[in-house]
Amino acid sequence: MDTKYIFFTGGVISGLGKGIAAASVGALLKARGYSVTIQKFDPYINIDPGTMSPLQHGEVYVTEDGSEADLDLGHYERFIHTEMTKRNNLTTGQVYHRVITKERKGDYLGATVQVIPHITNEIKEAIRKVSANSKKFDFVITEVGGTVGDIESLPFLEAIRQFCLEEPRENRLIFHLTLVPYIKSSGESKTKPTQHSVMRLREIGLQPDVLLCRTSKKLDIETINKLSLFCNVTSESVIEARDVKSIYEVPLMFHKSGVSELIQDKLGLPETTDDFSDWKEYVRKIKHPKGKITIALCGKYNKLVDSYKSILEAFVHAGVDNSVKVDVKWVDTEELAGNEKEMLGNVDGILIPPGFGKRGVEGKILAARYARIKKIPFLGICLGMQCSVIEFSRNICGIKDANSSEFDSETRAPIIDFMESQRKIRKKGGTMRLGAYPCTLKSGTKAAKAYGKSEISERHRHRYEFNNKYKSRLQKRGMVFSGINKRDNLTEIIELKNHPWFVGTQFHPELKSRVFDTHPLFRDFIGASKKYRARKENRVSKKT
Ligand code: GLN
Repeated sequence: MDTKYIFFTGGVISGLGKGIAAASVGALLKARGYSVTIQKFDPYINIDPGTMSPLQHGEVYVTEDGSEADLDLGHYERFIHTEMTKRNNLTTGQVYHRVITKERKGDYLGATVQVIPHITNEIKEAIRKVSANSKKFDFVITEVGGTVGDIESLPFLEAIRQFCLEEPRENRLIFHLTLVPYIKSSGESKTKPTQHSVMRLREIGLQPDVLLCRTSKKLDIETINKLSLFCNVTSESVIEARDVKSIYEVPLMFHKSGVSELIQDKLGLPETTDDFSDWKEYVRKIKHPKGKITIALCGKYNKLVDSYKSILEAFVHAGVDNSVKVDVKWVDTEELAGNEKEMLGNVDGILIPPGFGKRGVEGKILAARYARIKKIPFLGICLGMQCSVIEFSRNICGIKDANSSEFDSETRAPIIDFMESQRKIRKKGGTMRLGAYPCTLKSGTKAAKAYGKSEISERHRHRYEFNNKYKSRLQKRGMVFSGINKRDNLTEIIELKNHPWFVGTQFHPELKSRVFDTHPLFRDFIGASKKYRARKENRVSKKT
C-alpha cells in the first residue's frame, strides 16, 4: 500500500498531550498490523534541544543513531516500539541550516531563496524521507509542535497544505487536538475556542478531518453536533478525549471510540479488526497494583516531571512487572545534607538521575552513600553512576579528593574525567558521546542476571567517564565493573558486592523501556526495592 500520512495539529492551548495522542493513534494502527513511524516538527530555532535547559524544554531524548531529540520521541518509541532516528525530529533551526548550506554551495542557481518554496520544500522532503527506500512505513504520523496561530509554526503548516495538494485524498488525514472546556457555573461544555482554532487552520488552507477534543466532562450530543457544524467535520469525526489517570489509557479510549475504523474508513482501507487485549490488560495492571513502594528521585530539577520523563515512565513499566505502584519521592539534593534520615529514611529505593553541572552534586554523593550504608536498592544513571563512584572512592578507598573534573577542573583525583576524545571539543551542540554503543557484561553480576545475555547495546549522552587509573583500587574494595565497552575500554556499569542491589550505569537505560518491554535494570531495581520493603515490613510486624 502507499504510505499514508496523518498530521497532528494542536489548538487553543499547548500541553494538551498531542505527543501522547499521536503515539496512541500509532499504537492503534500497529494493533491493526500496519507499520508506523511518527515524526515531530519543533518550530523553535535551536538545531536540537541538546543545548536547552531541562527546565525550558524537559528531558532531552536520545535516539539510537545519536541525535538529541524532543521528549515526544520517547513517547513514540514507548507506545509503538518503532526505533526513532534523527529523521524523526525536525526543527526550524535544522530546516534553515539545510537551506542556507545549500545556498552557500550555490545549489539554488541564482534564485532568490524564500520561505515559499525553499523552506517549505525542505519540510516536505523531510516528511517523505522518514519513510524512504529500505524503511518504508504504511503510516507516517507527523506531529506539529505548538498551537495553530503561532507565528513560528506557519511554514510547517504551509508545507503541510502544499503536501496535501500533492498527495491523493486517500493518502492523508489531518487531526486537530483541541480543548473543550467545561464551565461549571453554566454547566456547559464550550465549543467556541475550538471553533476559533479550526477557523485559524482553515484560514491557512487546512481543513481538519478529525477533531480530538480534550475535556473533563462527557461531551453531549448537542456539543458534538455544534462542533461538527461549525468546524466542518462529520459528527463521527468528533472524538472525545476525556481526562484519564494514566497516559496508557489513551490508546484504549481511542480504541473504544472507534478511531481505528474511522481512519481505515476515511483512507479507504479494508476494515480489519483487533481486540487490543494486551493494552487492556496492561492498563488493568497499572490501575490495580497489589502493593506500592516509594523511590527517592534525588535530583535538582525537582518536581519538574518533564525533566525526568523517561525515568518516570520506566517506573510505570517496572511497576507493572512487579505488580506494584511506584510512588516517587522528590528529593532536592541541595537540601539533603544533614537531613538524610528524614528525607531518605523511609524510602524503598534510591535513584540518582542524569545531570550536568556542579549544583546539587554533593547532595547526590550523600544520597549514594546513604544507599550503600543502609543497603537500600540503588540505581545511578550517568551522573548518578559517576556520583556513586566518587562516593566509594572517597569513603571506602580513602581517596579524599576524589571528584569529577566536571565539578573541579583542578582536582588531584579525577576519578571521573574528560573522555580523551572530548578534550579538544569547544562547540557544545551535538558533541557529546551520543547514541548507542555496545557493552559486554561480566557473568555472575546483577547486570548479567538482569539482561540474561552478555552483549548489550545502550544509549549515551555524556562527556565524562570513569578514569581507569583508579580501577584496581576500587575493585579491591568491592566495586565490580560489570559492563565494559571493550573497544574503547570504557566503564559502562558498576555494582557493589555485599549490597542487595547497587547498580550504576554510564548509559541511559530509561530511554529503552517500553510498554510490554520494561528495561531489565528498571525491572530488577523495582523488584529489589519491593523485596527491601517486604523485609522492612516483616521486621516491623515481628516487633509488634
Ligand atoms: N555531566 C555528566 C557528563 O557529561 C553526566 C551526563 C549525564 O548524566 N547525562 O559526563
